[in-house]
Amino acid sequence: MYKKIPFVILSILIILMCSLWEYNVGYKNYTDKALDVDAENGASSKSTEKKTAYITFDDGPSNLTDKVLDILEENDVHATFFLIGNQINNNTKHTLERLIKNGNQIGAHTYSHEANAIYVSADSYYNDIMQAEKTIIMNTGVAPLVYRFPWGSSNAYIKPYRKEIIGRLAVKGLNYCDWNVSGEDSVGHPSASQIIANVKSNYSKYNEPVILLHDSAGNKQTVEALPSIIKMYKEAGYDFGTISERSKIYQWKLN
Ligand SMILES: [Zn+2]
Repeated sequence: MYKKIPFVILSILIILMCSLWEYNVGYKNYTDKALDVDAENGASSKSTEKKTAYITFDDGPSNLTDKVLDILEENDVHATFFLIGNQINNNTKHTLERLIKNGNQIGAHTYSHEANAIYVSADSYYNDIMQAEKTIIMNTGVAPLVYRFPWGSSNAYIKPYRKEIIGRLAVKGLNYCDWNVSGEDSVGHPSASQIIANVKSNYSKYNEPVILLHDSAGNKQTVEALPSIIKMYKEAGYDFGTISERSKIYQWKLN
């Protein structure tokens, strides 16, 4: 009878270990699932999870880009710039070299940004982006991996041939990127405090916000607002990254 005691203790120990292992595996699965859902929806779940903000600037390069780069550099922050091809020339060479050297990312926005020219057919937008890509490569030596539709991927202009455009550009290794937070700085002439308020209205709703700002010559107020926007995210515990570092590219759900 006494010989059986170690066997009983061993059995109890094995059962205990098995149930603990199962608990850990179950917990891990639950955590992974929560992170997947978060990545899919871009919605916030737990405040303890890693939070990264992706600041994006459309419509550059401009005479303000160096000021934007100064602020990013001072704050040790990287961002993504969706460029307009016909604004790239010898005068912007140094700025773009600096932009890349500092660890920022370049995407293509358009070559002309003229809705009447680029959104006439699938071919017109495809050719426009190809021209923008070619200009970016020729002037920076860097091939963009992402592009952003002027007025976003759900704009009414491209609805009839949106899928065709997206498919043809994906074959070229280019994926589009939308946004989920906006400074609303391209409509009218909002003040810096208004731009900050626009971002603040939903800045902490996402663990991986993609923030739309503009870097055209008319966006002085955006430059003024930028340090406060960065501070707001830093104080809320966010890191910063470029768009290709995001868990997945952010795209609106299209019908
Ligand atoms: Zn634009």
